[in-house]
Amino acid sequence: MSGIIEIEELSKTFHVKNSREVEALKEIDLSIKEHEFVCILGASGSGKSTLLRLMEGLIKPTRGSIKVFGEELTEPISKTGMVFQQYTLLPWRNIIDNVTFGLEIRGVSKKERYKIANDILLKFGLKGFNDSYPHELSGGMQQRVAIARTIATSPKIIYMDEPFGALDAITRKEMQKELMDFWLQDKRTIVFVTHSVEEAVLLGNRVIVMSSRPGRVIGDIDINLPYPRDKWNEKFGSYVKKLINIMNDDDINDKIIENVS
Ligand code: ADP
Ligand code: MG
Repeated sequence: MSGIIEIEELSKTFHVKNSREVEALKEIDLSIKEHEFVCILGASGSGKSTLLRLMEGLIKPTRGSIKVFGEELTEPISKTGMVFQQYTLLPWRNIIDNVTFGLEIRGVSKKERYKIANDILLKFGLKGFNDSYPHELSGGMQQRVAIARTIATSPKIIYMDEPFGALDAITRKEMQKELMDFWLQDKRTIVFVTHSVEEAVLLGNRVIVMSSRPGRVIGDIDINLPYPRDKWNEKFGSYVKKLINIMNDDDINDKIIENVS
């Protein structure tokens, strides 16, 4: 069965100053099925954000193709939505009007958009904050609102770029649990970028490992552990080790190449 996301030989090179080129991604092949929770794991600079931005249609590939629901992607589509690491709320809008923003653009009536937003705000523990403004909320709460805003437009695929990277450990743990509860009930397709091996094993039913630049896929591991997961479990530990080994092997390859050149 083919995936709802089909990526073939995808490469991205950025042209920077003085006609210098940065090869961010090289020949990525990836197929993602409906209802998967795929974690994309890689060190900083391995092209994870670039890959998500390509998948969301925000930037264009240099080579290769991305098909979403069988159609070649040429621009952002309403079937996908993105959550960024930085809280990207609109500071002049209150919380409910931030959550309804995408619906408003799509022309949904005020009554309907408030109903949808109120249901989601309730689900994400944000009841009672409708009239607050982003700066009045903690980082964790702001990120909850950003997730709620993305979910409000009912995308079939949700891309998340290190969404919990800026949060303290306790808030991060809470939000991982909330996201997991949401996905287990809802079974949307989630593609989640992280540089934390533990976070990848905690959340993903599958983990894709990226090499250092240029980013290539160097690992694709199914995580066969029931949810909710326990990081003290022995099997959890062996998945963590396996992924760390894949990442370390990549470092060794880099060193060999450096020595030869
Ligand atoms: P990651 O998210 O894994 O940290 P990125 O996708 O942000 O990696 O970046 C991959 C590489 O591409 C880096 O070397 C980065 O500097 C480069 N890069 C990303 N975006 C641009 C851009 N708009 N222009 C030039 N280089 C970029
Ligand atoms: Mg990034």
